[in-house]
Amino acid sequence: MIESPLLTNLTGYVGGRWTPGDAGETFEVLNPATGEKLADVAAMGREETLRAIKAGETALTQPVPIDERRRWLRDTAQALNDHAEEIGPILTAEMGKPLKEAVGEAKYAAGFFENAATHIHKLKPHTLEERPKDRTWTVYARPAGVAGLITPWNFPIGMIAKKLSAALAADCPSVIKPAEQTPLSMIALFHLLHEKVGLPAGKANLVMGPPEPIGDALCEHPAVQILSLTGSTEIGKLLIRKTADQVKKLCLELGGNAPFIVFEDADLDAAADELIGNKFRAGGQTCVCANRIYVQDSVADAFTEKVVERVRGLTVGNGMEEGVDIGPLIDRQGFNKVRRHIADALDKGAERIAGEDPPQPNGEWGCFYPPTVLTGVTHDMLCCQEETFGPVVPVLRFGEEREAVEAANNTDAGLAAYIFTGDDDRAERVIPALHFGHVGHNTGAGPTPEAPFGGMKQSGYGREGGEEGIDEFIEFQTVPKR
Ligand code: NAP
Repeated sequence: MIESPLLTNLTGYVGGRWTPGDAGETFEVLNPATGEKLADVAAMGREETLRAIKAGETALTQPVPIDERRRWLRDTAQALNDHAEEIGPILTAEMGKPLKEAVGEAKYAAGFFENAATHIHKLKPHTLEERPKDRTWTVYARPAGVAGLITPWNFPIGMIAKKLSAALAADCPSVIKPAEQTPLSMIALFHLLHEKVGLPAGKANLVMGPPEPIGDALCEHPAVQILSLTGSTEIGKLLIRKTADQVKKLCLELGGNAPFIVFEDADLDAAADELIGNKFRAGGQTCVCANRIYVQDSVADAFTEKVVERVRGLTVGNGMEEGVDIGPLIDRQGFNKVRRHIADALDKGAERIAGEDPPQPNGEWGCFYPPTVLTGVTHDMLCCQEETFGPVVPVLRFGEEREAVEAANNTDAGLAAYIFTGDDDRAERVIPALHFGHVGHNTGAGPTPEAPFGGMKQSGYGREGGEEGIDEFIEFQTVPKR
């Protein structure tokens, strides 16, 4: 069992109090690298969620001045930075990513609270200089309502930081549901909020347990006026359907299928380095991981060789061990998906030039997959049609620039894309033609707290980070006065 001063309570948190599930039931959290049981945490459901929403509704009736909200944000950022080294091992234990990445994620999370503190002044009411209709017009930024925040397992603390920082800035109370596989980092965050920040009761509530009863309560309750999900496109669509009757605001950060385009005029070594940094973060289990690698014919062999050379230097293992670059996949389902994508590509004529079939995992855990490079990949293969969410580099070739742009856009997803070229004119043509919310130009860098991030097409709508992220949790109220 995991031990940490940040995990002295293993329950939910409702109305400012640590709260077990009504039935006293718990669910297990396992280490995906070892299968070790890390903790039994409180299993909650519909009734607990309704009480959390009620606590949020009560908090909503007591507006908090901007200066005090800025203090919460700064104190949360400080607490996350101060405790990043304690959060890291919790996050690695429940999610599997290498410890260095996990500590980095805690600091990345702190960045979102800092960023929201920087921009919160934009929420002050402002009066128009003009006097249309001979009246004084003032625009107020009101909290949208109680916010339901639902997060995935791949960034157990990064994803909630994006949402909670904006919700606190906007003065929206929240009811938070983490992924069942990774509730411990969230509990650690609530420990810090409780001990170091002192939010008013009901301002941030934590419910954990099976998704449907919790999700349905959030979808159905009229006080919940905004739902923010980071997760799969399938669950995003489900929430759209379930909230349509109440016309709730949704902020949806959904799946990607990122193209990574290397033109013949690119610096190939730099592009290969950036690909490795991008592709193998969290073992390939991020929404912004390059999923389809398009390389111009004339440099395809040279670039692929550079990638393979680097891939051979990567170490797979338990993320707690020094020198490990790639941890386990989250579970057997994730492992099976990667295996299916590789088998399908090989069946359809691709060649595996790095990697091999790994041993079968032991049930749900120990799902280690070696980094794999595939050449001769074509669009009809599953690894181009869906997010693989694993350490696989499928290489496709192209001839003309137009061909690369068309192929890159040939997906329902529109989250992240990357282009590598030494020609700025080409970049200026290609970037606007790519229908993706985030386009790396000679970089594989993903989101940062200071800039807005989000998807186009079926990767969702709404933005997180930057100053735009706060707007998702605001309703502007306009008051003309005579
Ligand atoms: P998921 O299955 O959609 O789960 C995401 C969250 O939704 C989890 O907390 C899950 O709870 C919850 N959920 C599941 N069914 C629900 C329901 N009926 N009502 C309410 N909530 C429900 O996604 P995942 O497999 O955990 O995460 C991977 C996906 O997230 C990938 O597609 C990835 O691309 C995407 N992602 C997107 C971004 C982005 O910024 N766009 C970032 C990271 C990940 P349980 O865990 O309890 O099932």
